[in-house]
Amino acid sequence: MKRLAILGSTGSIGRHTLDVVAAHPNEFQVTALAAGSNLDLLERQARSFRPGLLAVANEAGRAELCRRFAGAGIEVASGPAGLCRAATLPEVDVVVSAIVGAAGLRPTMAAARAGKVIALANKESLVMAGGLLTAEVRRQRGRILPVDSEHSAIFQCLNGGDRRQVRRLILTASGGPFRGLPSSAFAAITPEQALHHPTWSMGPKITIDSATLMNKGLEVIEAGWLFDVPVDRVDVIVHPQSTVHSMVEYVDGALLAQLGVPDMRVPIQYALTYPERRACPAAPLRLETLAGLTFESVDRERFPCLDLAYDAARAGGCMPAVLNAANEVAVGWFLGRRIGFDAIPGVIRKALDGWPRQEVASVEEVLEVDGAVRRRLEDH
Ligand code: NAD
Ligand code: MG
Repeated sequence: MKRLAILGSTGSIGRHTLDVVAAHPNEFQVTALAAGSNLDLLERQARSFRPGLLAVANEAGRAELCRRFAGAGIEVASGPAGLCRAATLPEVDVVVSAIVGAAGLRPTMAAARAGKVIALANKESLVMAGGLLTAEVRRQRGRILPVDSEHSAIFQCLNGGDRRQVRRLILTASGGPFRGLPSSAFAAITPEQALHHPTWSMGPKITIDSATLMNKGLEVIEAGWLFDVPVDRVDVIVHPQSTVHSMVEYVDGALLAQLGVPDMRVPIQYALTYPERRACPAAPLRLETLAGLTFESVDRERFPCLDLAYDAARAGGCMPAVLNAANEVAVGWFLGRRIGFDAIPGVIRKALDGWPRQEVASVEEVLEVDGAVRRRLEDH
């Protein structure tokens, strides 16, 4: 029986994780659930999975949940400290890190400090503090297992060969909903259009990131840290069918790929059962139903966010955290109709250009940079 803490249980990844758990009641036990503000869903999840600890974003949520679970023997915590408590409970074996954005960094680092196995969906924490996080995982002899579908694919393809003989990693990108749209039409894109992803159903922030291709930029940085390769050996190719989830190219030119239906329950489950495999609630891929698999280069002019991410990664230090913070602000502004879709890359570029590169030695320093970038953007 593996005991799980699921951070972000009410989100897209969190709900898919609980689906996997429900399919294997003898393998997994939910020890803690943490979420933001969807108390009704969190309550329903808690009533069916019976965790000992619930953590919510704020004190008002905590008070309300205490009322709803009075006498039920469930502890309720709140705020960053509550998330960290869920991430570090001694009885927890695997922490599923699936909070969206920078809010995931502290609890993910707490899990690393506690030596936990981390099933990582929250790519932002690796983007912001990949060096610190991976060093802590090594120090405590913990492990990060990728949940992101591309990274799960690469992780699986790396099992087939010697790491030293890898030439490059190739991440596939669906290209998002605007793959074929001329950039002259980008200014008129509405949040509703951008929230409609062609192949994956995900939370709003990552869906916008997929439309700008910033998601792929964040994933390039994530892959660099997860697999210990420089980002210049991580390439991106557009593959609209989202069937090939990513590839590894070896020095002899052999390409290993992992294929499957675009259903996050497959990579989530692999992270939870690793190194074992189990039957999965997702439908298997039927090759004969595919009309074809196509690949094309990324149009880097229309989707400049990808190169902004490469640039921030090459610069290193605090710059990936600056990239991430500016992107979160820009996405929020776009969803709030304060800026157009076409203005997102410019907000991020300006933040990066105006920021002095500095080393970051702790999560606190990273979060200081994160806060300072957000304040500066809001002041302008
Ligand atoms: P989502 O918006 O659907 O869910 C986010 C979750 O985080 C919710 O449970 C929310 O309550 C919680 N949350 C947010 N702020 C919080 C806070 N301050 N305190 C406590 N909880 C908080 O997002 P998602 O699509 O599930 O994505 C989650 C993470 O997984 C992101 O980092 C995303 O990049 C990554 N990811 C998602 C997918 C996908 O298919 N959805 C695929 C790969 C990676
Ligand atoms: Mg992905």
